[in-house]
Amino acid sequence: MRAPGFVTRGQPAAIKAVRAMIVGQPPHALLLGGPASVGKTTLALDLAAGLLCLDPDPAARPCRACRSCRQIAGGNHPDLHRLAPEGPGGQVGIGQVRSLATELALLPVEGSRRIAIVESAHRLNEDAQNAMLKTLEEPPPGTTLILCVEEEDRMLPTVRSRCARLRLGPVGTRDIELILDERGLADPPTGARLARLASGRPGIAVALASAPEAVSIRSEIGRQLVDLLGARPAARLAAVRDLLARSAELARLIDLSLASPSADPPALEASPDERSPEAEVRAPAAERRRALAILLDVWRDLARDLALVSLGDARRLHDPRQLEEIQAASVGLREQAVALFLRRLDRAGEQLDANVSPELLADSLVLAWPRAEAAA
Ligand SMILES: [Zn+2]
Repeated sequence: MRAPGFVTRGQPAAIKAVRAMIVGQPPHALLLGGPASVGKTTLALDLAAGLLCLDPDPAARPCRACRSCRQIAGGNHPDLHRLAPEGPGGQVGIGQVRSLATELALLPVEGSRRIAIVESAHRLNEDAQNAMLKTLEEPPPGTTLILCVEEEDRMLPTVRSRCARLRLGPVGTRDIELILDERGLADPPTGARLARLASGRPGIAVALASAPEAVSIRSEIGRQLVDLLGARPAARLAAVRDLLARSAELARLIDLSLASPSADPPALEASPDERSPEAEVRAPAAERRRALAILLDVWRDLARDLALVSLGDARRLHDPRQLEEIQAASVGLREQAVALFLRRLDRAGEQLDANVSPELLADSLVLAWPRAEAAA
């Protein structure tokens, strides 16, 4: 489903709440939570468009036709401010927050409102959050600050307590297919496949559609993991470095696509050769962690598919093309072992957040990956 004027698809409860904010009294600050690439920025932009829209009928906002709506579509509305992580560390710096606070304190240019969207606000460090607190405590009239966060508990309690909250869950496969179709990003069979691979996150489907190499790298990683089910520990440890390297490549392709404006079909801007030589020499910690995070995603999808196949439920597979391989692989596996591994993956995600070395985690996971007992 899609509400008129909204770019967001799915998310009926959140759309209803955002509509009420547009028609009624919007909060000064909104904490918009949900997994990465689920559509937080897209919904934030829908809310911004609705609040800045000039249509006389509040119920018709955002109309997508007035001057204000067109400026938002063009990314140049003077009263819409956007803040996103910068630099290799992917932090939102205190300097960025301070200049945003200064801008918000000025009178609006066009109408009576100023809106700010902070993407990945969970990456604001404590100093930056404290700098933002002043704006939250005494919000300039007519301002709405939208903080998009993956992990709400990374926000200071003092920040959280001053925000209205809204949380986005996974988007249905059908809605993701429609998003890809509307943007002309994939033919129906490809769209259906990508929508499944995206596990409820439209941004991932869009990124995969814009970077076909990413889809093939993802499949290769999956195939390699299937092969490792039959491998001995030494072979597993030897293979895991390559898995991390491929995952880093996959992460780079996906992130390049995600970095483009979310409301438009993303275009790749930089080719791999244009990266600075320093970036090649030492992979920054953030990049290595991101590579493992991506590997965990692929691994989790594959392990779930293995579990589904052993339960005899092949209809909901992430990647139906792998069905035969997965069926063959699941023969020698104990169901229990796959379930245990899935739990282990979740714990690895938490350990990664707690700064455990990505290489160490990858080693321990590849050793814990179930061993197929059967076959010659
Ligand atoms: Zn409008």
